[in-house]
Formats: sequence, C-alpha cells, structure tokens
Amino acid sequence: MNQTRKVVLRFPHESADQPLVCELALRFGLVFNILRASISPHREGLMVLELVGDTEKQEKGLAFLRDKGLDIEPLSQDIRKIERRCYHCGACVGVCPTGALYLDQKNYQVYFDENRCIACEFCVQSCPTHAMEALI
Ligand code: SF4
Ligand code: SF4
Repeated sequence: MNQTRKVVLRFPHESADQPLVCELALRFGLVFNILRASISPHREGLMVLELVGDTEKQEKGLAFLRDKGLDIEPLSQDIRKIERRCYHCGACVGVCPTGALYLDQKNYQVYFDENRCIACEFCVQSCPTHAMEALI
C-alpha cells in the first residue's frame, strides 16, 4: 500500500550532523522531500519530511531512525507537543481556543488533539517547559 505523510524528526545533538536521512533512500528505497530543517544552538536537529510511497518501507525506515535515537512524530498544522517536556500543569489548556489541548479528568493528563489545532501558537507562548512547539 502506498501513502504520503509528513513526519517531524528530532535529532539528538550526537547525531545532528550524521547523514542518517540519506539511509532512507539508500537502505529502504524511500522517496522523500525535506520540507524544513534546522539545527538549534545546542546542536539539536529538527527536520520535517514528506514520505511518499510504500507504507511498509516507510515503517522500516522510520524504525531504523528510531533505533538511531531520533524522536519521530507525525506533523500536524505545524504545532507539536513534546511529551517528555510536559508535566501536565494545564497552563496550555486554558489558552487553547479550540479544545485541541484538554485535560482528561480521569488521569489528570493533558492531551493534544492535532485535528482540532488551528496553529494559533497561544500554547507555545504559555507553556513553561516549551513542550508546545511551532515549527518554523
Ligand atoms: S503548559 Fe506545557 S507543561 Fe503544562 S500541560 Fe501544557 S504542554 Fe504540558
Ligand atoms: S496552537 Fe492554538 S489551537 Fe493549537 S493546540 Fe496550541 S493553543 Fe490550541
């Protein structure tokens, strides 16, 4: 089965300068477009890829990158939630105009529904730990 999808790759500083993404083409025969790429002052890399073609190959390629220590998440409207930075304080829930960020009363965890996000970036400004991120 073929599909087109966009994913966000976050590289730890140890691997930010390694040509790991090239391996997607060389090892797995994947076709991709690099939509955005940046390196932070701390040498952490961020890349947005559009993957095209065979779903199974895509899964294998992304598994390879995860094994190399990359954090991979689907791209949705240019806003993402970095779960490891979130301590579920709820500050973003109050500013989110669409309910895309919401508190589950059962476990007091804050979740992000990317389908409801309009990329207003209010949460990006209000999050004390920079868990909400707008991609440039
Ligand atoms: S404001 Fe930041 S740390 Fe607090 S719940 Fe929202 S994403 Fe998590
Ligand atoms: S960008 Fe706006 S709509 Fe999207 S989660 Fe943040 S506050 Fe909600």
